[in-house]
Amino acid sequence: MSEPVVDLRSDTVTRPTPEMRRAMAEAEVGDDVFLEDATVNRLQDRAAEIFGREAGLFTPSGTMGNLVSILAQTRPGQEVICEAAGHVYNYEMASMSAIAGVLPRVIEADNGILDWERVEGAIRPSVYYRAQTAMVAIENTHNMAGGTVYPVEVADEICDGAHARGLRVHLDGARIFNAAAALGRDVEAVTRKFDSVQFCLSKGLGAPVGSLIVGSRDLVERCRPIRKMLGGGMRQAGVIAAAGLVALETGPGRLVEDHANARFLAERLAGLPGVGVDPESVQTNIVIYDVSGAGLDAGMFLEAAQRRGVLGIPVDRSRVRMVTHRDVGRADVERAAAILEEVVREAAR
Ligand SMILES: *Cc1c(COP(=O)(O)O)cnc(C)c1O
Repeated sequence: MSEPVVDLRSDTVTRPTPEMRRAMAEAEVGDDVFLEDATVNRLQDRAAEIFGREAGLFTPSGTMGNLVSILAQTRPGQEVICEAAGHVYNYEMASMSAIAGVLPRVIEADNGILDWERVEGAIRPSVYYRAQTAMVAIENTHNMAGGTVYPVEVADEICDGAHARGLRVHLDGARIFNAAAALGRDVEAVTRKFDSVQFCLSKGLGAPVGSLIVGSRDLVERCRPIRKMLGGGMRQAGVIAAAGLVALETGPGRLVEDHANARFLAERLAGLPGVGVDPESVQTNIVIYDVSGAGLDAGMFLEAAQRRGVLGIPVDRSRVRMVTHRDVGRADVERAAAILEEVVREAAR
């Protein structure tokens, strides 16, 4: 009974490792608004290097990174094409409309993965009396579709097509390292055609705080004053950037473990009566499954799981999301699976 809770609500719940805390304590810092924080500068340079780009910009959150990227590449009254279940459309406080003044042009896609044909069909005709499409925003991996991954050719084709039509393409790559790990490619290879890339240090990589935008020097210099305008100009941010550097170096290589643990969880769940999940569809660290066939709604299921020590989040009335991460090992996931099995069996009685 005294065993610790297995927290599978998100990969954001990880605590900084001892190595991260040491790096934070020892970080060389300065005022980053004056561009004088050596650790922030190192993190930005290292991120740019890993992605094969000219520059990087540290932001307090992925939400701000996405918004800054949109503000830097659109004008009020324009449209941004995005996927219906996308983070930028559903979980960012409508900031693209409220702050950037752009209209999301939403299209649905199987598994959250857009393709050029669908994107092209959503581009507004170029006539003066219609709002004009400025940008396409893609999410890789796609969170609410269950951590699905864009095949590189599909993302590349969207970028090429959009560029030929004069549009910018932004990547919400909160979990791009998961995508790269699943594809067995490096992040540079899977992101090279995007104009702007936002990725999170605070998700699977395990840092306590922060995201980065990477792109051309010109893009980053347009983003920097916008970040300041939004209140994202931080001072001795090296204390958090230091943990980010550790996350960037040590996080990517172990994501395959999270993916194997997610697949393991999905396989166990698939064996339970009334639970709907296809383990083959679990490509990365996110498992979304349907519990309605077990006679439970997502809320009831999660309450029963929580009482026994496993946490997840509801996606809708019938579906639950669980995410594996750095702070849960195989033994924790095995225990979680056993507990979820009990929940389902009890419901059947
Ligand atoms: C988590 C996440 C973000 C950004 O989230 P923050 O909590 O603001 O860092 C953006 N996009 C996706 C797909 C995410 O999962």
